[in-house]
Amino acid sequence: MTKTHGYASFDAKTDLRPHTFDRREPGPNDVQIDILFAGICHSDLHTVRGEWGPQIYPLVPGHEIVGKVARVGAAVKNHKVGDTVGVGCLVGSCGECLQCKRGEENYCEKGPTFTYGSKDRDGTQTQGGYSQQVVVNAGFVVSVPASIPLQNAAPLLCAGITTFSPLKRWKVGKGHKMAVIGLGGLGHMGVKLGAALGADVTLVSTSAKKQADAERLGARAFLLSTDSRQIAKAANSFDFILDTVSAPHDINGMLGTLRTDGTMVLVGAPPEPTPINAFSLLAKRKTLAGSMIGGILETQECLNFCAEHNLAADIELIQAGQINEAYQRMLKGDVKYRFVIDAKSFSA
Ligand code: NAP
Ligand code: ZN
Repeated sequence: MTKTHGYASFDAKTDLRPHTFDRREPGPNDVQIDILFAGICHSDLHTVRGEWGPQIYPLVPGHEIVGKVARVGAAVKNHKVGDTVGVGCLVGSCGECLQCKRGEENYCEKGPTFTYGSKDRDGTQTQGGYSQQVVVNAGFVVSVPASIPLQNAAPLLCAGITTFSPLKRWKVGKGHKMAVIGLGGLGHMGVKLGAALGADVTLVSTSAKKQADAERLGARAFLLSTDSRQIAKAANSFDFILDTVSAPHDINGMLGTLRTDGTMVLVGAPPEPTPINAFSLLAKRKTLAGSMIGGILETQECLNFCAEHNLAADIELIQAGQINEAYQRMLKGDVKYRFVIDAKSFSA
């Protein structure tokens, strides 16, 4: 066991605070990583506050991890000491089901082991990246291309792959008109990736102030979702919509902006259910779908794609002591466009 310092939530109501805990010694297939940067995802906030269900505390969140390999187990072939690597939302899966065999560990039939808040193979609870160090099975560790600045690479491990995977799955690219709803961590990566794939991207936001940034990030048009006239005027516009919104909102109105046979994919995960009107879908044979992160190979593909296209997350680097303030700002939509914690600040 090695002691590591980090930040944990101790219940659903109070602020996160410093926490020292044990990491296992690396086994033959494990990689021990000295964490350099950890992104803050809205899922961290939903989870620690118990919005998606009860949790076991203390709980160390964080699933956008970038660091250097410090030790490797004897059987590890894909990473060596000193390599720059990343860990996203997954640290294990059954390895045997159809989905795992297809490289879709995120859809493991037995349920993947998530980076935090999951039962690990030794029966303990997994603890995430708001910490100095982590030990992960090498099969769930990806390589970070040298050309991406490390703090800007961290959010690619969740916000990046979560938006990349549905764009690839639905073959979004040249000749497609797509919309991204919500300009936060996921949304800003959705805009950048959609534009890099050649799609004509519109950003749909509750905040008129985000228009200039949306255009800088690659959007060609902007819709203010609080203005029902703008949404009505956009009827039958889009082939594809990526919904990244973290709170309940009107999905039926946005379905009206899809063309015949268009698809809207939910990646945002508000805790409360949203009513869907059957007529929003059936009249023009529309599809409403969901997508959850991506598999490990696809995560590597996402990082490589970002390196090739000179893409990464726009971030605000913070110290561990600013995590609670960052959560407050995230709730107000005041994120440009991902908070990333400097792991040096997780000291004793
Ligand atoms: P974020 O940075 O907080 O961005 C969410 C954005 O949603 C906000 O910036 C805001 O954009 C918009 N929004 C917030 N409240 C709204 C409301 N009441 N009505 C309309 N729009 C609202 O969050 P994130 O880290 O990108 O995560 C977004 C969601 O995706 C979260 O629910 C998270 O848990 C989920 N998630 C899912 C996956 C997956 O695998 N499917 C992976 C990661 C995260 P504007 O200011 O532009 O309106
Ligand atoms: Zn996430």
